[in-house]
Amino acid sequence: MRKTHSDIIMDNGDLKSRALGVLRRFYGYNSFYPLQFEAIQCVMQGNDAVVLMPTGGGKSLCFQIPALLSEGCTIVISPLLALMKDQVDALQAMGIPAASVNSSQTDGYNREVIEQMFAGRIKLLYISPERLLAEVVQWSSSIKISLFAIDEAHCISQWGHDFRPEYTQLATLRRQFPDVPIMALTATADRLTRGDIARQLNIPDARLFMTSFDRPNISLNVVTNVSGNDKLRMITRFIDSHKGESGIIYSLRRTDTEKMALRLRSLGYKAAAFHAGMPTNEKEQVQTDFLNDDIPIVCATIAFGMGINKSNVRWVIHSNMPKSIECYYQEIGRAGRDGMPATALMFYSFADVITLRSFAQNSGQISVNMNKLQRMQQYAESDVCRRRTLLSYFNESYLHDCGNCDVCLNPPERFDATILCQMALSAIVRTGGKEGVSAIIDILRGSAKTDIVAKGYNTLRTYGVGRDLSFAAWNAYLLQMLQMGIIDVAYDDYNHLRVTAYGREILKGTRQVMLSKFSYSSSKTTTAAAKEKKPRQGQLQDMPPADKVLFERLKETRLAIARAQKVPPYIVFSDKVLDVIARHRPTTREEFSVLYGIGEKKTKMYWRPFTTAVRAYIEAHPL
Ligand code: ADP
Ligand code: ZN
Repeated sequence: MRKTHSDIIMDNGDLKSRALGVLRRFYGYNSFYPLQFEAIQCVMQGNDAVVLMPTGGGKSLCFQIPALLSEGCTIVISPLLALMKDQVDALQAMGIPAASVNSSQTDGYNREVIEQMFAGRIKLLYISPERLLAEVVQWSSSIKISLFAIDEAHCISQWGHDFRPEYTQLATLRRQFPDVPIMALTATADRLTRGDIARQLNIPDARLFMTSFDRPNISLNVVTNVSGNDKLRMITRFIDSHKGESGIIYSLRRTDTEKMALRLRSLGYKAAAFHAGMPTNEKEQVQTDFLNDDIPIVCATIAFGMGINKSNVRWVIHSNMPKSIECYYQEIGRAGRDGMPATALMFYSFADVITLRSFAQNSGQISVNMNKLQRMQQYAESDVCRRRTLLSYFNESYLHDCGNCDVCLNPPERFDATILCQMALSAIVRTGGKEGVSAIIDILRGSAKTDIVAKGYNTLRTYGVGRDLSFAAWNAYLLQMLQMGIIDVAYDDYNHLRVTAYGREILKGTRQVMLSKFSYSSSKTTTAAAKEKKPRQGQLQDMPPADKVLFERLKETRLAIARAQKVPPYIVFSDKVLDVIARHRPTTREEFSVLYGIGEKKTKMYWRPFTTAVRAYIEAHPL
């Protein structure tokens, strides 16, 4: 079935226009996000693919479009009922024949779904891994499967925090269906887990499609050393400035989630707690209420989130610092999936560090977990752009300041530190990458410690070149260099310092570096500044005031439709589509049908209520 090279080239042009046609017709979008088309093309040519994109990166389209362009049915393997239901709802709302087979449905209904699939009436079938493996043995070869899409593929790795043993059995798919392409998708940023996926799935030739993990629409904010009532007051002030928006407040302990929900409710906010210790039916209720916009605020432990596909979560607060950057990034990633502005706000205190250290000490892997905690702490204390710190942790080069974090918006005083960095880098190089932070500082400051002298470091050219600066100042600058990706710490090799590729460029003099000036009070002043600063207001707030009123009207229209159809409001339209409607103010079916995110089916279903709402608004607010 392999095609010749020229076939493929000719097909590609055609494939692109067919893919764009489907994108416009069903989804109402006009162009692909980065690497979406490339991934689609890969499986359309019969090859396997691993797709690594952040939440909101548009992974689902990578297998949904091939499903729509191919004969037969695409099987989507998904670990959670809620995720399946959500995607099936979303597809059906766009007029795409999708269904799921799962344990919450009767056997009779599940059988009917399978029959429909055999009759060729289903394009996408969502199913859990264990169910799939039990079912396929009974399927005759007459069924045409176009693709296996394995969603949340990180669940296959024992390294990750979502390991699901049943996923490992998916390795048999390749053997059972040698001609059906497999696409594995995940938003995990954990390198160990990423590397594991293709191997575990038995698809060694899979092509990798990885986009940047940056989430530019999420503003990053950290507040240090605020606790008790002050913290609660800041949280309520924050919620007040985000009226009508959905958000999640994460805490480390179950009791804290309950306390937080109780206190918020006593102050008149609609909030619910969620943690693993609650009965299943209560948890499901909270989740449903949150998805349906009935309860806007959930106070939760880490247990809440997987299976939350809700695209209009507008903010995530960490009432305590999380235990690792991976966890933090996954949790804040639940905000702003629709690409509209969203806010992450983290509280960081010494008490959190103590608690998390004890968690790490009692875990199976003390040193790994302590190191992860340390990097998280460095992020919290960072006085360089937080996005740079985050992305360099994930080994992504991001060489400018983001302009959408608290540090960028309240910048500390900067100076040209190129020479200073070169001194430190040179010392690291001259020790052959065999020393940790304190020895490097001792060398720079010309310390006469016996250890330094015994190793002959006092004869190095860099010995003593940095004696004008205090130990603490060097410590702070090296920390900044670490956060900027200029140096790295070999955690598996006695925490020795290493120079990165970026660092080598600085050493060669081809790059300049600005660092923020060290002063003893610097950490305190950033705290104070952050305290005063209101988290960045998103585009929604920046709209002309009249549009904001219209946006709220459209939200009401959406809610009424969602209630009547018994689907979550974001299934009807995402916040982004409402924003587009509020800006363009369509008053006819035609004007409505060409807007972003409005495909054929949604035009037919919704043009009347929305254009009516727009017209009523225009009449009530003449220019
Ligand atoms: P992921 O599964 O990677 O988290 P989704 O597939 O849910 O991301 O997509 C996130 C959002 O972006 C959804 O609202 C989706 O409809 C939208 N989206 C995906 N691809 C495009 C595109 N090419 N153009 C516009 N919006 C898109
Ligand atoms: Zn920034």
